[in-house]
Amino acid sequence: MRSRHIFRAFPDVEVAMMPVRNALVVGAGIGGLGAAAALGRHGVDVEVVEVRPDSRVVGVGINQPGNSLRALDVLGVLEECLAVGYPYDRNEHLDWQGRPIVVTPCSLGTDRVPPNNALARADLHRILLGAARRAGARIVHGVSVAELVDDGDGVSVTFTDGRAARFDVVVGFDGIRSPLRRRLFGDAYEPEYTGFAVWRVTLPRPAEVTHTMLFHGDRSNTGVIPLSREEMYLLHVTAEPEDARYEPADFRELLRRRLAGYGGLVAELREDLPLEGIVYSPLSEVHLPAPWHVGRVIVLGDAAHASAPNLTQGAAMALEDAVVLADELARDRPVEDSLAAVSAARFGRTKLVQDVSHGILVTEMSITADGLEEFAMNLREHLPGQAAFIEAELNKPFRLERSADVVAP
Ligand SMILES: Cc1cc2nc3c(=O)[nH]c(=O)nc-3n(C[C@H](O)[C@H](O)[C@H](O)COP(=O)(O)OP(=O)(O)OC[C@H]3O[C@@H](n4cnc5c(N)ncnc54)[C@H](O)[C@@H]3O)c2cc1C
Repeated sequence: MRSRHIFRAFPDVEVAMMPVRNALVVGAGIGGLGAAAALGRHGVDVEVVEVRPDSRVVGVGINQPGNSLRALDVLGVLEECLAVGYPYDRNEHLDWQGRPIVVTPCSLGTDRVPPNNALARADLHRILLGAARRAGARIVHGVSVAELVDDGDGVSVTFTDGRAARFDVVVGFDGIRSPLRRRLFGDAYEPEYTGFAVWRVTLPRPAEVTHTMLFHGDRSNTGVIPLSREEMYLLHVTAEPEDARYEPADFRELLRRRLAGYGGLVAELREDLPLEGIVYSPLSEVHLPAPWHVGRVIVLGDAAHASAPNLTQGAAMALEDAVVLADELARDRPVEDSLAAVSAARFGRTKLVQDVSHGILVTEMSITADGLEEFAMNLREHLPGQAAFIEAELNKPFRLERSADVVAP
């Protein structure tokens, strides 16, 4: 029999004793910090190792759709995210001259969470770091896994700083190029380049940018997303060679040239691009078949299912993974069975997100200037129904039935 106890850090939270006492999380990105917070809130002693030397994050803004906000709510940080972000409830599609095509209201969310809340990546990172630390996790920067031996009863880990420790479970949220995935599954599931890349930059928010606006152009796509009352971010997706290596000093000019055919708002923004702060990201995907674990070690988030960003669901999937992982590990059964349950629960949902995101990316990038009118007609006819379908799926609960002896925070 397991005994109930009151977890000291959260006196109002009653949790069951977990079969897992301690966990190593590899990677202090969005999913890793989310997992540290979720596991810590269940009473697990968590160490997080992050290869980067400090907690600074590169990046621009990030949209958190309603399902992600539900996961952030479980981690106790919904209000913090809403306080710094920009909630919005619709997506507007226009052509590259700024002529309106269609507006789709967004039906994600609940009474408690808005359909979307976009915020600066640095803010999301700071908030998740706080949640992980408050849940008792230790976060060590500049360190990674040097060696790892799973003997069935636990995992012995040697770190790159020479320390050694033993864990009940090891969780890899080490991103799209995951070394842990390679260690578990070899090189069969390396990232696959989509053929497209995105340029992004934070800019002052014009008053009209109160929701996502997507401008469809000639084999390219430009978007603006509000991040706060003061800021928004601009994104521009284009076909780029896989081996493109552009100099950051040239980013402004390269982006200006790519935006050359656009009129309206995008043309105005093109004239005010800053010299610094432009980020270039090739878009790749990871397709790791389930199960995502070997023994007591599992990979999750981008390491297992990195997706094109068109649905703004990658971080959402990583945060949902984190919550489901903690739920499953709280069950009174062998760790390996719980890890198998995680990928079984998550595979279909993450695959749906990958497939839909990929489909949107490829379709949008195939539109030429000549085909824009036909594309606009199709979008008007089909998009509202397609968006409603995927949002209904994403609105479904992502947590499984809780076992009777685990009380949710
Ligand atoms: C252009 C673009 C736009 C996007 N926009 C959105 C959006 O609007 N909304 C959304 O929900 N998602 C978005 N995403 C996706 C989202 O950023 C990712 O899905 C999310 O960050 C995945 O979280 P993760 O924790 O799995 O990986 P990451 O956040 O990448 O974290 C991985 C961490 O592991 C660390 N690491 C790597 N190797 C090691 C190692 N050996 N040892 C220790 N640590 C290691 C890395 O330094 C990093 O900190 C976007 C992605 C792209 C490319």
